[in-house]
Amino acid sequence: MIKIKENIDLTPFNTFRLKQAAEFFVIVKNVQDLRAAIIWAKENKQPIFILGGGSNILISQKIKGLVIKNEIKGMEIIDKNDDYALVEGKGGESWTKFVNFTVNQGLYGLENLFLIYGTVGAAPIQNIGAYGVELKDVFYHLKAINLKTGHEKIFSAADCLFAYRDSIFKNKLKGKYFIYSVVVKLSRKPNFKLTYAPLKTELAKRKITEPCLRDIVNVITDIRNSKLPNPGVLPNAGSYFKNIEISERKFKSLLKKYPEMPYFQSDNKKIKIPSGWLIEQAGFKGKRFGKVSMYEKQALILVNHGGAQAKDILALAEKVKKAVNKKFGVDLVEEVRVI
Ligand SMILES: Cc1cc2nc3c(=O)[nH]c(=O)nc-3n(C[C@H](O)[C@H](O)[C@H](O)COP(=O)(O)OP(=O)(O)OC[C@H]3O[C@@H](n4cnc5c(N)ncnc54)[C@H](O)[C@@H]3O)c2cc1C
Repeated sequence: MIKIKENIDLTPFNTFRLKQAAEFFVIVKNVQDLRAAIIWAKENKQPIFILGGGSNILISQKIKGLVIKNEIKGMEIIDKNDDYALVEGKGGESWTKFVNFTVNQGLYGLENLFLIYGTVGAAPIQNIGAYGVELKDVFYHLKAINLKTGHEKIFSAADCLFAYRDSIFKNKLKGKYFIYSVVVKLSRKPNFKLTYAPLKTELAKRKITEPCLRDIVNVITDIRNSKLPNPGVLPNAGSYFKNIEISERKFKSLLKKYPEMPYFQSDNKKIKIPSGWLIEQAGFKGKRFGKVSMYEKQALILVNHGGAQAKDILALAEKVKKAVNKKFGVDLVEEVRVI
């Protein structure tokens, strides 16, 4: 039996800790709850918004309609052979617990994505990535439920149209499906991705030449804890902007002017420039504007020092975008979903 509540404060349900309400709110713990919630929304002609851990959203106003908080949990190995295992995580499961489970099973592929906030079900939405790995690298398929018809559909990697911090669920199918579970295909033999510079440097510093899975998890934990603000202490939603991708031509003209500019090759033949560097060069790193600032250790993260409202965050984001455009002639794009 589900319990639809009215006018619920969402402060505890978003990592920016913004005080906004949901017109209607329900927590679902199994597929029956979910189906009942979908039927309720249909009968009452209410739109649906799916909420995971609230770690990639900026709620700028009351959310109209029914907010469905996904707490459908569980994870298991559903198939394996000598080389691979297929592991399924239910959408409401904690992403970090899911990665930890795969590491404990001695499975290779998700270790670089340890300690990313949020739920398994949200991971495909922006094709989460960190330290040289993206979800798409190990993605097998996902099961989703159409919010209009209630029908279940399996999406392959090709169906999801994954790209850098992007998928079909941020575009054509935005808000149309509830991601019920995600299956990843992990290797049973070591195949580490250690190309990302900070990871390589840290392993070398610790004199680890033949790492095991736990070594990688420990190093990632330490790097993340040293660089990223804990939303429990300093509310934030991770990177506010995506890194920018520019053409070879634009890149060359910028490099002439800024020879020290960091960059790396993108999958799609474009050049990726760390937006944190652009923001820092524009003078915003650690600079505080009232209750908000761009984080002192990582300029890409916008933090709420307490009591900020969505308008304070949006105003700073706008200032940063303008300044970066003025200095470099490029446009920053939000990674956080503004609601
Ligand atoms: C400190 C910090 C560090 C971070 N580091 C990284 C990082 O390294 N790499 C990275 O990629 N991200 C990072 N993030 C962003 C965030 O953790 C991820 O985007 C995460 O996948 C969001 O999960 P969530 O459950 O909190 O999603 P939410 O914020 O609840 O939702 C995000 C979007 O997904 C939709 N959604 C959520 N669940 C479902 C579902 N089951 N079905 C359909 N739609 C759904 C929501 O409607 C919303 O549009 C970081 C965030 C923080 C706070």
